[in-house]
Amino acid sequence: MKKWNLLIDVAKCFNCNNCALAVHDEYCGNSFPGYAEEMPRQGHRWIEIRQREQGEYPMVEVAYLPVTCNHCDEPSCMKGAPEGAISKRADGIVIFDPVRSKGHPELVKSCPYGMIWWNEEKQLPQTWPFDAHLLDKGWTQTRASQVCPTNAFQTLHLEDEEMQRMVRDEKLEVLHPEFGNKPRVYYKNLDSYFKSFVGGTLEGMLNGAIECIADAHIVLWKGTQKLAETVSDTYGDFRFRRLDADGASYRIEVSDPRFSSKTLEFALKKSCHLGAIALEPKAAKAA
Ligand code: SF4
Ligand code: SF4
Repeated sequence: MKKWNLLIDVAKCFNCNNCALAVHDEYCGNSFPGYAEEMPRQGHRWIEIRQREQGEYPMVEVAYLPVTCNHCDEPSCMKGAPEGAISKRADGIVIFDPVRSKGHPELVKSCPYGMIWWNEEKQLPQTWPFDAHLLDKGWTQTRASQVCPTNAFQTLHLEDEEMQRMVRDEKLEVLHPEFGNKPRVYYKNLDSYFKSFVGGTLEGMLNGAIECIADAHIVLWKGTQKLAETVSDTYGDFRFRRLDADGASYRIEVSDPRFSSKTLEFALKKSCHLGAIALEPKAAKAA
């Protein structure tokens, strides 16, 4: 049978928060018996846009990671929960019963993803119920997907085999697979949130003035392994992304027909800008 999944493309998320607002709009002041009690106006983030700032002046980036209940196939929240408080539906959705889960604050700590929220007024543990009340009425996507302007947040209704094929073909990942929870929320371009970058700016003397050097060729090496190559832009800037900031030694080699080649070695501990890299004119050939 077809089951519900989410596909979140991290590279397409720009923190507009439409998805989180749609959840507030749907659940604040509204309760859906059997699915969810109303969400408090403040304090809960059933869809949370996490942020990671990287780099240093003048090369700074912020990456965004939408996180929600993963509707896990092996949900740790269900282990040890009172009978009927949390259930896993045949279509993959995990529901916190608004009646049977009442008065169980200990459930909040049972989610390794930190996506269960405590409703003090209602004495309820709550999480995003995948808009199950709408899907059961025939909706084909969640409200969050409907309002996402970049299609970063997609609702997928697929057979498990079909979903796993997509996971393989598009190299999708889940958050913290080591937890063993088997999430149904899949991510594309997760590296752009968790990995690091290195960049720099090339300059050199041209026509009697120091100019930004565009179109220079830059190769990135880690030990003897050539990792990537790129070309500097109009402003002399270049950037290599998705690197492990593990303190290992990296090397860049810059070449441009107008200048002598330049090599720079550095240890990458976090995203960084290597600064202005001055290229020297080629030595004139002896007569
Ligand atoms: S993400 Fe947390 S709350 Fe949601 S199903 Fe998994 S363990 Fe339960
Ligand atoms: S609506 Fe889409 S782009 Fe906006 S924050 Fe949510 S996932 Fe990101």
